[in-house]
Amino acid sequence: MADTQYDFDLFTIGIGSGGTRASRIAAGHGARVAAAEEYRVGGTCVIRGCVPKKMLVYGAHFAEDLVDAQNFGWTIEGKSFDWVKLRDHVQKDIDRLEGLYGETLDNHGVTIFRERAEITGPHEITLASGKVVTAKYILIATGARPHMPDFEGNEHAITSNEAFHLDEVPKRILIAGGGYIANEFAGIFNEFGSKVTIANRSDVILRSYDAALRDRLLQISLTKGIEFCFNTEFEYVKKQEDGTLLVKLTGHEERVFDQVMIATGRVPNIEGLGLENVGVELGDRGQIKVDEFSKTNVDYIYAVGDVTDRVQLTPVAIREGQAFADSVFGPGEPYSVDHSCIPSAVFSHPPIAAVGMTEGEARNHLGSIKVFQSDFRPMKNVVAGRNERGLYKMIVDAANDRIVGIHMIAPEAPEIMQAAAIAVKAKLTKADFDATVAIHPTMAEELVLMK
Ligand code: NDP
Repeated sequence: MADTQYDFDLFTIGIGSGGTRASRIAAGHGARVAAAEEYRVGGTCVIRGCVPKKMLVYGAHFAEDLVDAQNFGWTIEGKSFDWVKLRDHVQKDIDRLEGLYGETLDNHGVTIFRERAEITGPHEITLASGKVVTAKYILIATGARPHMPDFEGNEHAITSNEAFHLDEVPKRILIAGGGYIANEFAGIFNEFGSKVTIANRSDVILRSYDAALRDRLLQISLTKGIEFCFNTEFEYVKKQEDGTLLVKLTGHEERVFDQVMIATGRVPNIEGLGLENVGVELGDRGQIKVDEFSKTNVDYIYAVGDVTDRVQLTPVAIREGQAFADSVFGPGEPYSVDHSCIPSAVFSHPPIAAVGMTEGEARNHLGSIKVFQSDFRPMKNVVAGRNERGLYKMIVDAANDRIVGIHMIAPEAPEIMQAAAIAVKAKLTKADFDATVAIHPTMAEELVLMK
């Protein structure tokens, strides 16, 4: 395996979810692996994405739970929320996880360079310190970063990167975008007491999700006090003497906010990697173009994860990293990742989870479909006096009874969806669900009781 012509068999640029998995697995197959990371080991998901976000979501849930507790007989006096305490606990755990990521790579004998790396020639990488190394294969796993729209005063706006480190919860926050991050952080800040306004360029939130779920989230979010401004763009943001931000959106009067947060998608991190030095081809969104085996147009250069802009989800990057390492360094046949039927979730309040085709997609692709729906008020909400309903939808191919999509908005929907997604991936039928006895009383039982 070892090709002594090169310093390493594999050099990974970017130690996030995809880069870590690929490096560790390649090393496990006997490759001599080095990896470079200019920021913190762990990448977006661990350091400033999924993981700290989920911790904030947990923290935010207590706001409603403490209110709901009253109808369950609890009296809670003197409750208060300390953002700094939560923020610091979250960051402490992120430090711990970062350490674990580093340890895992160390334990697998991966050489870590904590500095920026650039491809400076065929099989050649130059580190920020000036050190030059060579590798038989190069893997680019540099992820993506928040897209920042071009408008006057955009330097005053934060992104999700900074949201985890705020000194205080903003009294009024304007969040731009209508996707995952905008809706998740809207829920978080709203529960922490901020007055939240979402501004989106269209009048559609969470475009890829089923329309009925999107409508339900919008309706519940409005009831919770989140405000939406649709079909609008920024004209300017001006910082005022007292530190507040004067914002002008098209079609709206000037308004004052304490923070403006941009969540309008993420762009691949390709700058300064030296891709032009070796002729790596890019796509029209600036993503690195790869084939099904994550190989670029340059024979020895591969790319996985968000930098390839296939499906910007951590578990997908991990699978791509694993498949790359097994295929290039493992004993078996090369294999590729199946990017179809990927379940996903939005950790909004309440959360959304989905797998497979939406009703609209299924109608377009299959023509004849059956739609089953359960619109229910979770038992906990009934006792709590919370007038918030869940919605499950199941989309079935009328030709063969196969379930082609499941869509849920309700408490714990992502937890339930992980199991339901196996059934959809395994091409089970509506009859298979009907034949399964319900677990009563649960919310998940709605899945096997749909008529
Ligand atoms: P999304 O792609 O989810 O949403 C982007 C939003 O920004 C859309 O509402 C879109 O509007 C709007 N938008 C896009 N481009 C522009 C632009 N140039 N100017 C103004 N508005 C624009 O992006 P996020 O930033 O929320 O998240 C990035 C990615 O990270 C997600 O796609 C997802 O893959 C991943 N992620 C996953 C999470 C999860 O799994 N729970 C959580 C957080 C992020 P419109 O639709 O109207 O065109």
